[in-house]
Amino acid sequence: MEEHWGRTIWRLLHVIVKKIDEDTFNKHKAILIELINYIGTHLPCGVCSHHYIKENYISHGEIYHKEGLIIKLWDIHNNVNDSRKKNVYSVNVLDDYDNYDLSDVVKDFKEKIGKFRSMNMDKVNEELEKFLWAH
Ligand SMILES: Cc1cc2nc3c(=O)[nH]c(=O)nc-3n(C[C@H](O)[C@H](O)[C@H](O)COP(=O)(O)OP(=O)(O)OC[C@H]3O[C@@H](n4cnc5c(N)ncnc54)[C@H](O)[C@@H]3O)c2cc1C
Repeated sequence: MEEHWGRTIWRLLHVIVKKIDEDTFNKHKAILIELINYIGTHLPCGVCSHHYIKENYISHGEIYHKEGLIIKLWDIHNNVNDSRKKNVYSVNVLDDYDNYDLSDVVKDFKEKIGKFRSMNMDKVNEELEKFLWAH
């Protein structure tokens, strides 16, 4: 069975923030937060996008450093798990994302999520390139 789009997108979001180096993060923090919010508000499921806007939209002022964004995404993912009546996970789950290669995760995201046409993939790809070559 094909993987649910949600898993593909969560993997991209968690891996990109974990893999980015501190300098790139500090330089491109605003662009990265905007990219995450853009993806979260253009999900293949309209109700989920609406939920993201209402409950999980990341404001620039609440993120000071890379670790803060890693934890924020973990918290958002748990909020969604909770709303789906699923288990919430301890922070240890974040260790799993160290094992991924960012270029593989981006490639997988482009292939699987592009098909849904919910987001402007040209715009997303352009932004992703910045992080792909700078981690
Ligand atoms: C931004 C976003 C918002 C979404 N909003 C909704 C919504 O409003 N309603 C809805 O029904 N679905 C929503 N989805 C989809 C939903 O989260 C699931 O991805 C989907 O239902 C597939 O479920 P799954 O059981 O494979 O779990 P998933 O949550 O996709 O994947 C589970 C795996 O993710 C890892 N994981 C679990 N929790 C965490 C965490 N806190 N931090 C890091 N890793 C973790 C674990 O390895 C676990 O095995 C959203 C997806 C995304 C990307």
